[in-house]
Amino acid sequence: MSKRDYYDVLGVGKDASKEEIKKSYRKLARKYHPDVNKEEGAADKFKEAKEAYEVLSDDQKRAQYDQFGHAGAQGQGFGGFGGGAQDFGGFGDIFDMFFGGGGRRRDPNAPQQGADLQYTIVLDFEEAIFGKETDISIPKEETCGTCHGSGAKPGTKAKTCSHCNGSGQLNTEQNTPFGKVVNRRVCHYCNGTGKIIPEKCNTCGGTGKVKKHKKIHISIPAGIDEGQQIRVSGKGEPGVNGGPAGDLYVVVQVKPHEFFEREGDHIYCEMPITFTQAALGDEIEVPTVHGNVMLKIPAGTQTGKTFRLKGKGAPNVRGYGHGDQHVKVRIVTPAKLTERQKELLREFNEIGGNEATDEQEGSFFQRFKKAFKGD
Ligand SMILES: [Zn+2]
Ligand SMILES: [Zn+2]
Repeated sequence: MSKRDYYDVLGVGKDASKEEIKKSYRKLARKYHPDVNKEEGAADKFKEAKEAYEVLSDDQKRAQYDQFGHAGAQGQGFGGFGGGAQDFGGFGDIFDMFFGGGGRRRDPNAPQQGADLQYTIVLDFEEAIFGKETDISIPKEETCGTCHGSGAKPGTKAKTCSHCNGSGQLNTEQNTPFGKVVNRRVCHYCNGTGKIIPEKCNTCGGTGKVKKHKKIHISIPAGIDEGQQIRVSGKGEPGVNGGPAGDLYVVVQVKPHEFFEREGDHIYCEMPITFTQAALGDEIEVPTVHGNVMLKIPAGTQTGKTFRLKGKGAPNVRGYGHGDQHVKVRIVTPAKLTERQKELLREFNEIGGNEATDEQEGSFFQRFKKAFKGD
């Protein structure tokens, strides 16, 4: 069976534009698509139209077909029907065409939002707690002032890319065991922009954008914490083709504090106390981020006991009050004692200092001793 001429199949002239070819194919595809048309021969007509379209819509294949006919097309390994259902593998493409499709077919000349930027700011412990107003300097792409983003030398103009006809994409076809697969890839002649710039702008080299350091004022809210981010709307990369700018995300890192630790809105710290303070009770001065406060240590306090200072933590970043500060006491055993101190401690021991410990610790030491007596 000899093949019909692709132009005849689509009912267009040899000089038909891409748009005409596409239009004609859509019409035929709607008419003969096997989902729509159950008549005998409709499927073959659909396949025929699809094949013709796949060749004529691709500039490179069309040129080869024009020169060598079907043989030229086959020589490149993309011609011919495989037969069977596999030829309907390209449904996605048809539906894209009918319904607009997804991002793959995005028009490179349509307005696009600029990229988001990320910046990491390092804060001191207290800065995160109380917040701060600051200026940051970020490397940022800006629309070139010389060419106003076109990338063309002033007085010249960008041209539509002839390889992709401004679509920014080229189709390639591949024969696989599952049938023919049409791949769209970014047009490498115009890098997907759909435009060719014959005379490039000297300032930006044709990109339409220049790199600059830009100062941006940011307000860091009180109570912000490690890993949280602040979104600064519209301070990202500029948009393309008149689209809106992206956003700037400032990611927070907090330097560790030598004394405090933070978990959410609560602050934790450890306070050393002497064993006499623990035994007899005392009042100690404890630092907080809000200033020093007095903390009462009751007599008989054990090491590791935690006291809560209500509302002395970090403010909640969303404004829901303050966290607490938790103070854990650690009893420090004196390492250097004078003779007089040793004498007093020995005396303390002789008059039953260890029994006092036994009582405080409940029955632990008694049970422990019992276990070693063997009864
Ligand atoms: Zn420029
Ligand atoms: Zn192109």
